[in-house]
Amino acid sequence: MKINWIVCIMISILFSCNDNSVVTKEAETTHVEQDTEFKKDTIQTIADASTIMARPQVPILCYHDIRPIKANASANAKVYTVTPEAFAEQMKTLSDSGYQTILPGDLYNYLAFGKSLPPKPIMLTFDDTDLDQFEIGAAEMRKYNFKGVYFIMTISIGRNRYMSREQIKQLSDEGHAIEGHTWDHHRVTKYSPEDWDKQVTSAHETIENISGKKVEYFAYPFGLWNQEAFVPLKERDIKMAFQLSTKRDSTEPLYTVRRMIVSGNWSTQGVLQSMKATFKN
Ligand SMILES: [Zn+2]
Repeated sequence: MKINWIVCIMISILFSCNDNSVVTKEAETTHVEQDTEFKKDTIQTIADASTIMARPQVPILCYHDIRPIKANASANAKVYTVTPEAFAEQMKTLSDSGYQTILPGDLYNYLAFGKSLPPKPIMLTFDDTDLDQFEIGAAEMRKYNFKGVYFIMTISIGRNRYMSREQIKQLSDEGHAIEGHTWDHHRVTKYSPEDWDKQVTSAHETIENISGKKVEYFAYPFGLWNQEAFVPLKERDIKMAFQLSTKRDSTEPLYTVRRMIVSGNWSTQGVLQSMKATFKN
């Protein structure tokens, strides 16, 4: 009788184990099915080049120095320098006109996958790591909850009149995008394979070490690009690259996104008019 009872317990344990394993397998199957569903949802196909070219362009402004313009400044310096007063007025006007800033990830999702954007999207970009862009640029944008995109030239970090690592980290923590603009601003059209590693791979590692976030977007120095640059950029996980206002490459519009330099000679209304003219499709 006692032996029978032990056998009975053993059999019931055996069955219960079997039962458990069946339940586990069922759970695994369900999990795998859910996983496949999840992947179906998240793996999306990037739109073809002609679809991307046909999407209305988002205005993207490009700023360099934000400081008083000296009377004896060169014609070139007057183009690349916007006074703090003009910059403040431009930010206020954009906000009053209903513009909302977007970041490169938003633009990428819109161009590549057709995701929606706010009604009046705009992107504000800042090149070359100038300190003014932190002290004045970020301070003015903060008033309107605007977020900018900082394209960092890494050789300048910590130099006089340029941003420090801590300031770049602060911008990143505040929600601005911190992206790549090479090590020392040489044009990509003349790079050897070693240059690509030094100017892009290493420079992006420097930026990632500061921000703690992956660099996925790139601005060509001087806005200059050629078709040979696309593959090295893709190999370095760059999803989208920004030029200035020359014609886009119709086969690779994601690697020739257009931007407009805001000239220090323009009035705020002039900026709005140029924006409309430059980014009309
Ligand atoms: Zn630059």
